[in-house]
Amino acid sequence: MKFSNRYSQLDNAFYQRVTPARVSRPKLLLWNQDLADQLLLTEDFCRDRALLAQYFSGNRIPDGAEPIALAYAGHQFGNFNPQLGDGRAHLLGEILSNSGQRYDIQLKGSGQTRFSRQGDGKCAIGPAVREYIMSEAMYALGVPSSRCLAVTATGDLVYRETAKPGAVVTRVAASHIRVGTFEYFAARGDLDSLKTLTGFAINRHFPEIGLNPELTPSQKVLKFLNAVIDKQLTLIVNWLRVGFIHGVMNTDNTAISGETIDFGPCAMMGIYHPGTVFSAIDTRGRYAFGNQSAIGQWNMARLAEALLPLIDEVPEKAVALAEPLIRQYGRDFELAYQLMLANKLGMASLPEQADEPAGSLATNLLALMQEQELDYTQTFARLTLSLENPQEAEKLSQELSPWYDKWRALLADEGIEAETAKSLMAQNNPRVIPRNHHVEAILAEYEQSGDSREIEDFLKVVRSPYRLLPQTPKFQDLPADGDRHYRTFCGT
Ligand code: AMP
Ligand code: MG
Ligand code: MG
Repeated sequence: MKFSNRYSQLDNAFYQRVTPARVSRPKLLLWNQDLADQLLLTEDFCRDRALLAQYFSGNRIPDGAEPIALAYAGHQFGNFNPQLGDGRAHLLGEILSNSGQRYDIQLKGSGQTRFSRQGDGKCAIGPAVREYIMSEAMYALGVPSSRCLAVTATGDLVYRETAKPGAVVTRVAASHIRVGTFEYFAARGDLDSLKTLTGFAINRHFPEIGLNPELTPSQKVLKFLNAVIDKQLTLIVNWLRVGFIHGVMNTDNTAISGETIDFGPCAMMGIYHPGTVFSAIDTRGRYAFGNQSAIGQWNMARLAEALLPLIDEVPEKAVALAEPLIRQYGRDFELAYQLMLANKLGMASLPEQADEPAGSLATNLLALMQEQELDYTQTFARLTLSLENPQEAEKLSQELSPWYDKWRALLADEGIEAETAKSLMAQNNPRVIPRNHHVEAILAEYEQSGDSREIEDFLKVVRSPYRLLPQTPKFQDLPADGDRHYRTFCGT
């Protein structure tokens, strides 16, 4: 592992230097060799599982790693908390991948830090494995996401409702800079650190902005804000494309890289309904499936607020410059969303002249799915199949009458061949997603048996979500109760 750390070179306002807690009996449970290859970890390094368990439990610090816990603040369910930070995570350092991209290597569940507040700094095996599965699935679905390199059992117990075996998960992300990191310094009025952080984030994620000699410092900040907004919008459109519900879109869980981070209470939507919520604490549906776009905009407004002092000394002037970017999110999101739905229906662009524009056609389909309580993934997968399978087309024509025939007529009017539509749809409509009931069954089974074969089988399938593997059908079925009783939890 060749570390090349930048964040730990910043001054100590940004983090606490702190060593992970010792664990009793580290054991490597899951290892992501594909990711290890991308990160250029040598064969020698990857061979010795006992040594890997030492490294990725936090017992042994690899050469070049400089463990730190990051400081950040955040709006949680709309309320500002000025002091959050890594309460159970240690950033080991940064390494460069085979494509030259820089990644953070972070341990989670690795013990207390000065940001732990009442927390024990730990993580149970179930949620650690769940993060591994969900982030791998998201990555394979083509959704920007942090990934997991390893899950390591600690041999120690974690006390939740009951005592559970503990684990450390190794998370790999483009960075762990969040909207809440900017809020942390803005709330303290620490403009020097805010400026340093912004320069750092520009350099790491949008170097072309930093290098442009024609931009003033204020213009660079505005360009940065705009770039983060674009990434966030693209991310959320992708969530909506695959039916992902993040569940806890607090500003401390909003990475400015535009990657999905924090998989605590996330879940997949089965039956289409914009109001779908699974998180036990999200009692008002703030983070419901269909609310995610609006929350994305709200979170970007919090980032803009934090950046105001760097945009102009006169607050009114800064607001006048930043506000249009936040407003533009609404229009840009709508366009990107409509285009995404058009792609799911086989159209590469939004037809302008049609009697039935693709936008309303898609909206009508969603309304129909909601009314008939149809599964989001299966419906789009069946539509895709129907382009080459006349029996499926006949069935859908009846089940989704008159919508289905209108859709086929629109494709024909636009001169789109069935083959072309099908290939676009096959890239945008997964055949299989990590369905909640399968994820939970696999975790429960694993907690009983400690045998990871079922997990590996499931991973094979969700890592090829657009292809039919021999094992795929086993994981495509819907939950018997339509997920009506399914609940997810944070901080487990
Ligand atoms: P999350 O809900 O995962 O975004 O976490 C919110 C905050 O709580 C972050 O500052 C976490 O580091 C902290 N936190 C969550 N669980 C624990 C825990 N078991 N021990 C210490 N801190 C925690
Ligand atoms: Mg978090
Ligand atoms: Mg979490």
